[in-house]
Amino acid sequence: MDLLKERIQAEGLVLDNSLLKVDSFLNQQIDPELMMKIGEEFVKRFQGERITKILTIESSGIAVSVMTGLILKVPVIFARKKKPKVTDDNVYTAKVHSFTKRESNDIIVSKQFLQKEDSVLIIDDFLANGEAAAGLANIVEQANASLVGIGIVIEKSFQPGAQKLIQAGYRVESLARIKAFSNGQVIFY
Ligand code: 5GP
Repeated sequence: MDLLKERIQAEGLVLDNSLLKVDSFLNQQIDPELMMKIGEEFVKRFQGERITKILTIESSGIAVSVMTGLILKVPVIFARKKKPKVTDDNVYTAKVHSFTKRESNDIIVSKQFLQKEDSVLIIDDFLANGEAAAGLANIVEQANASLVGIGIVIEKSFQPGAQKLIQAGYRVESLARIKAFSNGQVIFY
């Protein structure tokens, strides 16, 4: 998606040659027009698929998921991140190691929001090692729902997440695929 790549080039900040900060339109300040265009692109890519729910993870996946849900007229569920504690029978949980925070957390979704009849599109802002997306996919599987695919705004293709998810049989659609960071510059495919 050219518009997205242009914004990343113009406003992205590369940290430690591994992390991309896009706080001006995605991770802190949010550009609603760009989020809507990203939503439209996801809808186009998954056209023809039956989608009844969108599943994302707090917090930066929410804006783009809501735009996609608005176009598709389906609800958006966001998994909450929380520290492991006593088990609760009414929630699905999956363990996810956070790439940015370098800690493991359980992500949780209330069972009432996912049924076996659901056909779910997972959306997230970044794909790095694939932990967050795999955790979300695991929750869809626990609910015995169908997983349509995984929509990613920015894929860091030099990290193993995309390959892992594709090998696991999931369809991954990433709107900007980063080949490498080089001297603070972003190199796309
Ligand atoms: P993964 O679970 O695929 O290792 O990492 C994806 C999650 O980590 C995303 O939900 C995102 O919040 C965060 N993340 C990973 N890499 C980056 C990055 O380069 N920049 C930002 N802003 N977030 C990232």
